[in-house]
Amino acid sequence: MRYALISDVHGNLEALQVVLHHIEKEDPDKLVCLGDLVGYGADPQKCIDMVRERTELVVAGNHDWAAIGRTDISYFNPYARAAVLWTREKLGEFHRKYLEELPLVLSEGELYFVHSTPERPEEWNYIFSLTQAAYYLSKLRGGFCFVGHSHVPVAFVSDGDEVSWVPGPSFKVRIEPDLKYLVNVGSVGQPRDGDNRAAYALLDLREGTIEVRRVPYDVATAQRKILKAGLPEVLAERLAYGR
Ligand code: ZN
Repeated sequence: MRYALISDVHGNLEALQVVLHHIEKEDPDKLVCLGDLVGYGADPQKCIDMVRERTELVVAGNHDWAAIGRTDISYFNPYARAAVLWTREKLGEFHRKYLEELPLVLSEGELYFVHSTPERPEEWNYIFSLTQAAYYLSKLRGGFCFVGHSHVPVAFVSDGDEVSWVPGPSFKVRIEPDLKYLVNVGSVGQPRDGDNRAAYALLDLREGTIEVRRVPYDVATAQRKILKAGLPEVLAERLAYGR
């Protein structure tokens, strides 16, 4: 079984199109989206449509909930908040309903899929440190948890005693029996690890590998659309730096 995984598309159609094109060539059995389809970018509806049509498994992210008024946005920074309010205006009934119906978590055999954290996902906490990762890995029943949310790809690996980590921007990890994996697949539409290329992941249970790959996309067009939409300039600028 081979899975492709994407996350944090954030309304960036240019990035999503390129990533889906690459994934198509890989011909995975299933495509999983780990949330934040919208927010920040200029094409929320088209991105929802592409994810809706192409992916088998989709969970909700905090920006998806924010766009339908389901989560508190007072802790969002001013640019994120402006983008949420703009996105809310753009979504019609159909797309709103689609976001409303997304589950917070999904699992399939040994695999667990969630936007933020496997415990209390609705609190939208981030997993950055080894200590945080160790906590969630110790609670994990299956061998694998896939997340998004921080927009920084990384794999945390636990042998039951110690946790190590494999940092991005891209990596390929061999799956060993008896180890547990907590993997952040990075962001399609707004990378924040200093690499402006879009990220996606491949999980190959036959070959026994987890991979995060990066692909360049047309950043300039995505930026132009953000500015044309009247969204905050900084949201266009940051795409160039991957921050
Ligand atoms: Zn996000």
